[in-house]
Formats: sequence, C-alpha cells, structure tokens
Amino acid sequence: MVEDDQAIAAYLADNLAADGFAVTTARGAGEALRAIEVRGPDLVLLDLGLPDGSGLTVLDRVRAADGLASRVDPALPVIVLSGRASEADRVRGFARGADDYVVKPFAYQELLPAWAASARCCAGPAAVRPAERSASGSSASTPRPVRSASAVRR
Ligand code: CA
Repeated sequence: MVEDDQAIAAYLADNLAADGFAVTTARGAGEALRAIEVRGPDLVLLDLGLPDGSGLTVLDRVRAADGLASRVDPALPVIVLSGRASEADRVRGFARGADDYVVKPFAYQELLPAWAASARCCAGPAAVRPAERSASGSSASTPRPVRSASAVRR
C-alpha cells in the first residue's frame, strides 16, 4: 500500500489484515519503489498525491521494469486510490497502466470489485467472490473481464 494519509493507511491496513493479507505500507514514491523491489508484492494500492511526487511516477517505473535488472514485475497489478475524481484523471491513470482506479473517499467494500477486476495474481479478499468459492473448481479459474475506464464508478 502506498498512502501518506495516516488515517486511510490505518483503515486499509486494518481491513486487509483482517482479511488475512500481509501489508507493507509506503508513505512516499521513493519508499514505494524500494518496497516493491524488495518485497515483491502481489498487488499495489497506489495513492497519487504523495509528499515526494506523484504516484504515477511509481506506476511508470513499474510498467517500465524489464523484470530482469530488477525484481519488479512490469505486470504487477496496481489499483490507484485517489481523490482526483475527474474523467481526465481516471483516463490518465488507466493510460499509464493502472488496472483500476478508485476515487476517495471510499469504503473498504468498494475496493473489492476493483480488486477482483485487477487481481490477475491472487484471489483477493474473501468477500470478493463468494459464489465462485462455493462453486466447483472449474469456474474459479475463469478469466474475469477487465473493466474499461468508462465502466469505473463515478
Ligand atoms: Ca495522498
């Protein structure tokens, strides 16, 4: 998680921990890049307004990674969490490679559909897909449609 707002960071960390995830919190762009390289996360929740720059620079660096010189996977799922709510901001986020874009303020539950749409990596919080979890194994691996920018909630 890349978030400089202490209250939001604590709120997300508490909920993610309750769902069984190991969370690393970075409070700036530089710290985020180091953490991504060192920790090799399965998914990144990325704030854009950071004290040492824009979260978009973090996204750029991840997408530009070659996966060889560094341990950073260029396909690392990234969900942007931002107070910047305009269509231009959302389109810019997707154009730079965000898997989804969630506008603040949001409730934790609102994050789950974004997680499901972007998580090529992992199952996501337990509440995301109860129907699939109770279904037989074959449907669990069915690819999920990726939402387009126009489908993102207002
Ligand atoms: Ca911020």
